Amino acid sequence: MTTIELVQGDITRESVDAIVNAANSSLLGGGGVDGAIHRRGGPAILEECRKLRASRYGKGLRTGQAVATTAGDLDARWVIHTVGPVFSATEDRSALLASCYRESLRVADELGARTVAFPAVSTGVYGWPMDDGARIAVETVRAADTAVEQVRFVLFDQQAYEVFADRLR
Ligand code: ADP
Repeated sequence: MTTIELVQGDITRESVDAIVNAANSSLLGGGGVDGAIHRRGGPAILEECRKLRASRYGKGLRTGQAVATTAGDLDARWVIHTVGPVFSATEDRSALLASCYRESLRVADELGARTVAFPAVSTGVYGWPMDDGARIAVETVRAADTAVEQVRFVLFDQQAYEVFADRLR
């Protein structure tokens, strides 16, 4: 049984086994939650991302996939980087967003992580409407076959928190 918790705040302050990053396919850092994770986590994360880029992900990490690195100076053992889809009004990319949550949990299971913190993937620069992003996040985690005991959605602002809270009810 996976329990779901909601927290409002900065995901880089969380103390969990694994923190999920809404990365971009380059794995080489970006803005938003990605920038915050690299800033607070320090250079060890980027160094490992560079190595992954050079070895396994020459063309970048594909949308909907996930891969783990060290968490550097964060209070976690791993960062799981996943690449959300850019929202499209003309094409249904929900399956890719669901895949981000499912694949991140699969990687967490491989690592033996029991507590995992997620941001609201794709709902920032990638433009996904918060309500739909929350629906996909909650439905996918609820349906997941995982040994992760606790999933914590960490929402940056009060409005996002309220939207997730409505979805959980
Ligand atoms: P994406 O490119 O996948 O949209 P963003 O980082 O731009 O990724 O935004 C994803 C979500 O993460 C947004 O809802 C944004 O408000 C939120 N966010 C940004 N910084 C943080 C942070 N430090 N902790 C938690 N959530 C954050």
